[in-house]
Amino acid sequence: PPDPSSPGDAADANHGDLSYPRVVKGVRRAFATGRTLSYEYRMQQLKNLLAMMEECEEDIIEALRLDLRRNKHETIFVEVDATKNELLHTLAELKEWMKPEKPRKTMASLLDTLTIYKDPLGVVLVMGAWNYPVFLTVSPLIGAIAAGNAAIIKPSEIAAATAEFFARKVPKYLDPECYRVVLGGIPETTLLLKERFDYIFYTGSTMVGRIVREAANKHLTPVTLELGGKSPTYLSATADIEVATRRIMWGKCMNVGQTCVAPDYLLCTPEVRDLFVAAAKKVLLDFCGADPKASTDLARIVSDRQFQRLTQYLKCGKIVIGGETDAAERFIAPTVLVDVKADDPVMQDEIFGPILPIYTVRDASEAIEFINSREKPLALYVFTNDEQEYKLFIKHTSSGGICVNDCMIHVAVEGLPFGGVGESGMGAYHGKKSFDTFSHHKSALIKDLGAIGEAAGSLRYPPYHDKKMAF
Ligand code: NAD
Repeated sequence: PPDPSSPGDAADANHGDLSYPRVVKGVRRAFATGRTLSYEYRMQQLKNLLAMMEECEEDIIEALRLDLRRNKHETIFVEVDATKNELLHTLAELKEWMKPEKPRKTMASLLDTLTIYKDPLGVVLVMGAWNYPVFLTVSPLIGAIAAGNAAIIKPSEIAAATAEFFARKVPKYLDPECYRVVLGGIPETTLLLKERFDYIFYTGSTMVGRIVREAANKHLTPVTLELGGKSPTYLSATADIEVATRRIMWGKCMNVGQTCVAPDYLLCTPEVRDLFVAAAKKVLLDFCGADPKASTDLARIVSDRQFQRLTQYLKCGKIVIGGETDAAERFIAPTVLVDVKADDPVMQDEIFGPILPIYTVRDASEAIEFINSREKPLALYVFTNDEQEYKLFIKHTSSGGICVNDCMIHVAVEGLPFGGVGESGMGAYHGKKSFDTFSHHKSALIKDLGAIGEAAGSLRYPPYHDKKMAF
């Protein structure tokens, strides 16, 4: 196989490259030089990453057009700007985050120096997903670099143009010995996962999350699993239905619903359902005109397989909005379904497409019961003007995150850790939480060998007797 340490033709070198032990060993050797440890090195790599995002904006827009027919403005908003914000925040805060912490002392440690150091973990593996292939790959990488690690980056093969972009550009911007892009699909990833890493950060489906965790277990490697699931949306009669509908439909239309935190299904009373459906018709007309297929603002379904899966859901319940499909273009119009049953496939699987089923409930309590009868979601949305009502959801449900009166935007706030719970994942990141995820907090106690300390500590030495121990 070609020499994986030559960054010049990384794209070719990494395609189906079966010499992963050699790749990982090379990165480990580079990490062992200690150069990733200094603040200056980390800042320089992060600045280089920022330069890549700025200088390659057009390449990123083009890659996303090829992968998902994504509108340029959506790409700038959710891939480029979101990643740059994470970078700018990290560049501004890194010095502070790296500072060793001084914990509070107890009587027993009054004479000692206590410190918590933030060590890098070593060589980490970052596995990205296809739906936001830039942000979901680069933002964990930012945390890995900030915490002083070396990394192997495995973009999703399903967003092939973006994966090629990484293979071409990353070696030009980052230290090519410490940060390596590896391309490939399931067979290559299976081989890669046999290697020993010091941390694995995985974004993708719950099913593959289990495979990753199993592989990590062999080496006792800790993992963050950013997974998926069905994110419920409760719409109360007290909400401003027009505003709520616009925000919910925006969540479903963005990347045509191929978003891990997209509102998956709607819970509301039959009366609210009718108001929502009327409002959603108007909103969709505003968003994408009378012929949604002609709208340049709607992306396409990523693959034929996903397209086939999604069109099956259109057989559930009754279509009241949308329903048009075009297999040749992998187009599915934003669609609203009513009269669905709890055991319909569209109410069982994570939808991950522009289809919104509405499941009617009596009230907020029944909605909470319904949510709690299912796996813990990545996000939960509550639209209400009643503070007591949303507090009920906060208190009585468990989800990765909760957002009241909007969708998805909580993910873009650096100060709010993002991650799942239960089936929707383990661990969290963004901002300082990313830095901490990729750091080992090493406790250190430093004593001197002087007489005062020795006298104070002498009680612990045998021989033990009651009088001495009672002191
Ligand atoms: P994907 O197919 O792109 O897979 C993600 C990664 O897993 C890729 O690197 C891929 O090569 C690897 N992979 C796939 N199958 C594998 C296997 N059998 N063995 C080893 N590696 C394998 O992404 P996906 O899983 O289709 O993504 C969609 C899912 O991801 C949805 O469930 C969505 O909710 C979830 N998701 C979660 C987040 C989050 O931040 N929590 C973000 C985006 C997507």
